[in-house]
Amino acid sequence: MSMAVTRRPTRKDHVPKRRRPPSSQSPRADATSQPDIVTPPAGSLPGRVVRAFGLWHEVRLEDRTLLCTMRGLLKRRRQRTDIVAVGDQVWVTDLGGDEGVIEAVEPRTRVLARTARNTDDVEQVILANLDQALFVFAVHDPEPHVRMLDRFLILAELQGLPARIAANKIDLDNPPGHAAELFCPYTGAYPIHYVSVRSGAGLNDLRAALAGRVTAVAGPSGVGKSSLLNALHPDGDRTIGDISEATGKGRHTTTATRLYEIGPATFVADTPGMRALAMHAVDADRLPGCFPELRPYLDQCFYPDCTHVIEAGCAVREAVGAGAIPLLRYESYVALRTGDEVRQ
Ligand code: GDP
Ligand code: ZN
Repeated sequence: MSMAVTRRPTRKDHVPKRRRPPSSQSPRADATSQPDIVTPPAGSLPGRVVRAFGLWHEVRLEDRTLLCTMRGLLKRRRQRTDIVAVGDQVWVTDLGGDEGVIEAVEPRTRVLARTARNTDDVEQVILANLDQALFVFAVHDPEPHVRMLDRFLILAELQGLPARIAANKIDLDNPPGHAAELFCPYTGAYPIHYVSVRSGAGLNDLRAALAGRVTAVAGPSGVGKSSLLNALHPDGDRTIGDISEATGKGRHTTTATRLYEIGPATFVADTPGMRALAMHAVDADRLPGCFPELRPYLDQCFYPDCTHVIEAGCAVREAVGAGAIPLLRYESYVALRTGDEVRQ
């Protein structure tokens, strides 16, 4: 696929001007998600990490893909996060023969990560520099598992990540309009794309919503995620994957996240790791705030520590009664809050 050429940044644009903290004890906020930066040497090229296998990384350059190792200097730096992760914007030196070396990593705008459990742990980055999440479900075959969708949405809220929903297999909608009913409770809070990878319906609008962004795609199996990713890059992203197969390197993937370039500055990521992350328990205190529909009412309850499940004078329950909060979403909140959730 030929990509529109964006202005290649000059070295001057990208030489990081971060000052080192005076002590080696950097503040917590700095300690995660920001690998130390090494100034890229002259002649190095900007690229994006699209796949990682242990110490090897596939880096997508403007017009080609290189299989890269990391400069030793990067590896020696103390880290509380993955040194290089899928989604990272990096600077590489082309060594010829489709191989290269990563010289420097740009600061991350955002990460989707398994956070470190203690301070000695390293944060595991599932995807760096993502702009939004797209949760794919089918309207039928398999039936939409709304509780799982709710969990995905909560994860996105916790990570401050804008979320969209794709309701795929709209060609199977029967009776017509049934799908719209199923996903109706979400329309107030999240954009929904009704699509059919099979018929092509809705795909142009979805493409427009992805343009110029990095989107993490997740959903249950069988809903059509692979089909969708293929449909979004109809030329086939052939360079990705072929190199590692040709060289025999990277057979053993340590992270299954994979980024596909589908247009100018447009990437979609297959992020299977997101599903496990979404199944993590959420602190009860943080749960109400993860439902955008509940937020306007949260400070209006009679009891300041209202759980919004049984209390009298609960503004949330009143809003549900008045139809201002979709019942299905509220029931999902209650199921998660009271621990009745049946995991599937
Ligand atoms: P994944 O497990 O989410 O990656 O799902 P796949 O992409 O493997 O698709 C699962 C099945 O759904 C395959 O048999 C696809 O052909 C089928 N499928 C995907 N998209 C559509 C669609 O829009 N309509 C219909 N009817 N089937 C679809
Ligand atoms: Zn309440």
